[in-house]
Amino acid sequence: MNAALKGLAIAAALALGVAAQPQPQPQPATPALHARQPRRLVIKNAMVIYGNAKPPYGPVDIVVQDGVITYIGATSDVPSGARSTSDAVIDAAGKYVMPGIVNAHMHWHEERQPGIPQPIQYERNLYLAAGVTTAREVGGDFDKSKRWQAESNAHTIVAPRILVYPFVSKGRTGSTAEIRAWIRDIKRKGADGLKIIGMDRDQLEAVMDEAHTLGMRTATHIAVEETTAKDYAELGVNSIEHFYGVAEAALKGIQDFPPDTSYSNEIHRFGRAGELYAQADPERLHKIIDLMVEKHVAWDPTFSIYEASRDLQRAQAQPWFRDYLHPSLEEYFKSSLDNHGSYFFGWTSTQEAKWKQQYRIWMDAVREFASKGGLVTTGDDAGYIYSMYGFGISRELELHEEAGFHPLEVIEHATWNGARLIGMEDRLGKVREGFIADLLIVNGNPLENLKLLNPYGADIMLLNGRPASNYSPLGPDDKVTSARGGGIEWTIKDGIPYHVPTLMREVREMVARARAQRVHTTAGQP
Ligand SMILES: [Zn+2]
Repeated sequence: MNAALKGLAIAAALALGVAAQPQPQPQPATPALHARQPRRLVIKNAMVIYGNAKPPYGPVDIVVQDGVITYIGATSDVPSGARSTSDAVIDAAGKYVMPGIVNAHMHWHEERQPGIPQPIQYERNLYLAAGVTTAREVGGDFDKSKRWQAESNAHTIVAPRILVYPFVSKGRTGSTAEIRAWIRDIKRKGADGLKIIGMDRDQLEAVMDEAHTLGMRTATHIAVEETTAKDYAELGVNSIEHFYGVAEAALKGIQDFPPDTSYSNEIHRFGRAGELYAQADPERLHKIIDLMVEKHVAWDPTFSIYEASRDLQRAQAQPWFRDYLHPSLEEYFKSSLDNHGSYFFGWTSTQEAKWKQQYRIWMDAVREFASKGGLVTTGDDAGYIYSMYGFGISRELELHEEAGFHPLEVIEHATWNGARLIGMEDRLGKVREGFIADLLIVNGNPLENLKLLNPYGADIMLLNGRPASNYSPLGPDDKVTSARGGGIEWTIKDGIPYHVPTLMREVREMVARARAQRVHTTAGQP
């Protein structure tokens, strides 16, 4: 780190200190609760964001016993037995408690750039720090993910709950008979669902028929293919990921791509993909949205993963890269046709403008879909295209707000809707007695500013040294300063509290070690 960066880091650390603790205090040690399961946990004085978009309420106390929410009530009404014999207490005064986030679209990575290992704990910590307590992996290393799933369920690793949806693609499986056999086999091995990508109609019919026979849930990345959202909706897919396939179902004819287009060239693929919604016929778009709603297809748009296409410099200059970007990811993000999603060569203002237009139409379509009763969820698909694990899901929530949703609806997308998507709505996604204690304790009110959920924290205004709304009335003697504050303080999964500042400190250390290691191993080379 050079001197200027070091100065910035110190300034940032000071700013964070001011926000979190008005009085200078020594560096806190790891809190005793971190990553340990108390038999009973009482969260006191909590304002509650329930999960289903109803207004927040509180303050209340929340009692968690053996990983389950057993009591929510007025502070004075907490059963005295529960309070006096509780193993652990978190005071949530001034904080908001909401359900843990379901990241409906993610992938586990142990390496991005070949030759630079990336410890899996890096990604786990970042997701927990961003409030992700459930991660639906849609394509990955199946055997490893199943092992991590079991370890997460047994609480022998620090990680979100994991659902494993392996890829089924025509490239892998071929004939419809082979596809069916492959699905039966992967179901026997414990697949929680299927991630479908790029199918011809006959293959898709086989996949969906087999999935329904076996009672498996399905998610699809439709791609630019023979099949569109219309086929997937008709055949009963559970969720459509990204933007693909919806605009295609609304074209008059087919995509208007130039003759030299190659879908294998990601400059072409991601450049032209940004033109699809503008080519869609608005009337047909309304109709395909109606069909998706009618067939109970969920939409998991993953807005955040394509954002670099509409604003490359924003994506490249994210402030958390300085301390938290692992060198494996850093190398992978650099422009290279060998790396999926690293397609930025001479990216133009026109390409950005087209993508901005695409976002406007796409976001309006998602908003219309929800207003007609469609289920919208949140996923980040991070680890590609300058999107970092955890920060991506935090940004995803902001983009749902940009799409026109109220912050309460955005949080519903991220929590209760996620639980419905994965079929866990009887025990997950709400702050409710009898539900699994997956809870976030947020420094501040995320309904005021969703950026408070970002693991890096958010800019906040201090009025005479105390956090205040930036609409606060100001007197002549008031002192106004800005600082970094917010963030999630505790992410609780299955009743186990994880201290977010501790998780983030560990991430910084992993990154610092990996950077030092790289300098060391490359120093002697020409
Ligand atoms: Zn993905």
